[in-house]
Amino acid sequence: MACVSNPYPYAAPVSQTLFDRAAIVTPGGVNSPVRAFRAVGGTPRFMVSGDGPYLTDADGREYVDLVCSWGPMILGHAHPEVISAVQAAVARGTSFGTPGEGEVALAEEIVARVGPVEQVRLVSSGTEATMSAIRLARGFTGRAKVIKFAGCYHGHVDALLAAAGSGVATFALPDTPGVTGAQAGDTVVLPYNDLDAVRAAFAAHPGEIACVITEASPGNMGVVPPRDGFNAGLQRLCRENGALYISDEVMTGFRVSRAGWYGLDGVRPDLMTFGKVMGGGFPAAAFGGRADVMAHLAPAGPVYQAGTLSGNPVATAAGLAQLRLLDEAAYTRVDAVSAEIRGLVTEALAKAGVAHRLQTAGNMFSVFFTEDEVRNYADAKQQESFRFTAFFHSMLAQGVYLPPSAFESWFVSTAHDARAVERIAAALPGAAQAAAEATG
Ligand code: PLP
Repeated sequence: MACVSNPYPYAAPVSQTLFDRAAIVTPGGVNSPVRAFRAVGGTPRFMVSGDGPYLTDADGREYVDLVCSWGPMILGHAHPEVISAVQAAVARGTSFGTPGEGEVALAEEIVARVGPVEQVRLVSSGTEATMSAIRLARGFTGRAKVIKFAGCYHGHVDALLAAAGSGVATFALPDTPGVTGAQAGDTVVLPYNDLDAVRAAFAAHPGEIACVITEASPGNMGVVPPRDGFNAGLQRLCRENGALYISDEVMTGFRVSRAGWYGLDGVRPDLMTFGKVMGGGFPAAAFGGRADVMAHLAPAGPVYQAGTLSGNPVATAAGLAQLRLLDEAAYTRVDAVSAEIRGLVTEALAKAGVAHRLQTAGNMFSVFFTEDEVRNYADAKQQESFRFTAFFHSMLAQGVYLPPSAFESWFVSTAHDARAVERIAAALPGAAQAAAEATG
């Protein structure tokens, strides 16, 4: 009952002071909206350190981390081999603005892992990767229109912010002021998992669609995997209509298998985008795919794309060290701990009589507070997210850090060991009870 009368049972005075300072100099006090806790209320925790599966906040409280920096930290925090690769790179200098061997090695690693990627270009964020991939698709096809799906988030690219997931979903923004009609006018937004809608859009715009961009398996409206045959259907429709099929693997890439979602479903995209895990906790991202398409990119071809810090030596060293540690055994470990935690979550919620649905994509998962299958963004919005708020705060109070939104994937790492899982297990019954007692 305590959770109902006081949804934020633990004070975080140092975090609160930092948040107050931040709010003076930074809009909303954060540098990325979902971090502000607005969807769940309360004070965002300012973290000072991470070690394996744990984070420690500025008030000295330790949490089991189920966010993992929104995906990148698949080996846990401060992995010794990643840290020493970073230290060695930093000691050699931090940026040269010239080509370097680390970029070649990281590109080779990506090409070796992901069959459809014949060539790759390194950038600094997932947003840059999707923005550049769209530009390349338009340059290659000479067409303007882009199909995207409601609830899929591809970063804050102007043309792709229409009906986007992640923070846009969290705040239920219908669209974003600042994106002009011209910038979004060539974007066709369709319901996810609906091939008939895609077929109809191609029929309505013959010869106009440059590409379809989709999250390989969406994690930004909560986890909503593609139905059997959906990605293959997208690929076929693109091929039949002379458009490119772009699979956004910024979240799933190198996380759900050695070759990301492609490693699980085997559907060959024309272009792919990556970020998060491939940067080892640093700003590194990439887009790549068919060599004949990538050949259109400057300086080989006419489509311009560039970046002062692209292929940064410290970021590439971190990414390479992380990817080299991610062998089959590592993915088996992450899959197993993910399954264990999912089982515990379902058990606790079922025991407390809370209607819920746990959805999974490889080792990514999220909980929807609804009984029905969630196939798209409209379904996701039907859930009782007020129950998530109570669940979230109870977990937080008990030292488990979940994504502060009901519309985000949870992430685990190879470092989530038996002790971390036990702490999650101990917190779940109270959180499930809080969810059961919550009122909308
Ligand atoms: N694409 C997907 C699928 C993402 O999940 C994200 C970020 O969460 C992005 C693109 C944007 O990446 P970044 O935040 O690095 O710009």
